[in-house]
Amino acid sequence: MLENIVIVGAGQAAVQAIDTLRRNRFAGNLIVVGDEPWLPYQRPPLSKKYLAGTLGRERLLLRPQQFYEQHSVEVRSGRRVEEISRREQRVRLDDGSSLAYDALLLATGGRPRPLDVPGTNLEGVHRLRTLADADRIRSGLSTGARLVIVGGGYVGLEVAATARELGLTVTVLEMADRVMGRVTCPQVSALYEAEHARHGVSIHRNVRIRALSAQSDGRLRGVVTEDGGEYPADIVLIGVGVVPAVELAAEAGLTCDNGVVVDEYCRTSDQAIYAAGDCANHPSRHYGRRLRLESVDNAFEQGTSAALNLLGMSTAHDKVPWFWSDQYDLKLVIVGIGQGYDTVVPRGDPASRAFSACYLRDGELIALDSINTPKDQMAARKLIAARVRPDPQRLADPGIALKDAC
Ligand SMILES: Cc1cc2nc3c(=O)[nH]c(=O)nc-3n(C[C@H](O)[C@H](O)[C@H](O)COP(=O)(O)OP(=O)(O)OC[C@H]3O[C@@H](n4cnc5c(N)ncnc54)[C@H](O)[C@@H]3O)c2cc1C
Repeated sequence: MLENIVIVGAGQAAVQAIDTLRRNRFAGNLIVVGDEPWLPYQRPPLSKKYLAGTLGRERLLLRPQQFYEQHSVEVRSGRRVEEISRREQRVRLDDGSSLAYDALLLATGGRPRPLDVPGTNLEGVHRLRTLADADRIRSGLSTGARLVIVGGGYVGLEVAATARELGLTVTVLEMADRVMGRVTCPQVSALYEAEHARHGVSIHRNVRIRALSAQSDGRLRGVVTEDGGEYPADIVLIGVGVVPAVELAAEAGLTCDNGVVVDEYCRTSDQAIYAAGDCANHPSRHYGRRLRLESVDNAFEQGTSAALNLLGMSTAHDKVPWFWSDQYDLKLVIVGIGQGYDTVVPRGDPASRAFSACYLRDGELIALDSINTPKDQMAARKLIAARVRPDPQRLADPGIALKDAC
């Protein structure tokens, strides 16, 4: 019988787990420890509407204060868990106190991947993960300022779009030969490169960073590249990916490998400890391999699944994942995992600004990128789960409904 559940990390996965536990009548003690000073909030607006100043801080909260009171959830904000004692089933906090648990859920998320070059600590150089990061960046986004973004992933490109709307001069430096190359096919990268160019963003590909340079008075001067180029900057954002926050788990001896390793029930190598969200590396039955995903959907699904399993309601986590990114008026929804595809079937004309890219492997639809095509992305979730093998010619015709091409 579980009496004490402790959740480490107060983000998306944690809130979903709390909600699921209380909805399913868990009546024991529920304590969430989060090292940020706020109640759990959503991160996606940090690079979009919140950064643009069109969404207020109070709208970021995943649940209002009353929710935690009404559901008897103790939220310890601004407190860090420093150690897990598995033998005693206790966690130690940074104020010296400790909490006993019968079950522990690690929902520690991730943090920005460091860029290992000189100058990254200069004033005006930022990363974007937290509300505090977004506030710092926002204070530097003045019209006419020069923003250089290192990394053409979705966070970097979303900030580029926001900053252009605010009137900054924006340059993106990407190491690979195309933007968003880790998650999309060349056709979709090309569409986004063209869209950013149309909005005045200057994108440079195949660029390696040597250092961030300073003026003689110590203020930021720019970004220096391996080929000897220098891009002048008043503000720099480093967005080169996310690493999972696994230190706590690793120090406690839990198996970690690109995340805390869990089974399909979100259980770690210790039966009393679960992990969910960006920090967890889980087996996907559908794709037949391990995945560590960084998305709201994944945090939501794993938070739910971990909570149900904690209560003995055995629930394997195996939904087709999805992810979204908003840039300008383009709504990108990626359904499934495209890695390992052998064919991309374009559906529609990218120039029409309503376009889908269908990823096939050995004839099976494994993923779909939808740009302003909501019907396709809704249909794709079911079709990918059903392992359909579409007719490529019919698939390429946007006049034929996706389900009728499969
Ligand atoms: C700028 C930005 C834009 C994004 N946009 C999108 C989007 O458009 N679509 C999408 O699907 N996803 C998006 N994401 C990703 C999405 O926000 C994450 O995948 C999601 O927040 C993961 O939830 P989580 O609960 O796993 O981790 P998090 O939300 O990161 O929460 C983890 C929390 O745990 C805390 N913590 C860590 N270690 C400890 C410890 N030892 N003690 C106490 N607390 C600890 C962390 O500080 C953090 O507050 C975006 C992310 C960012 C940063």
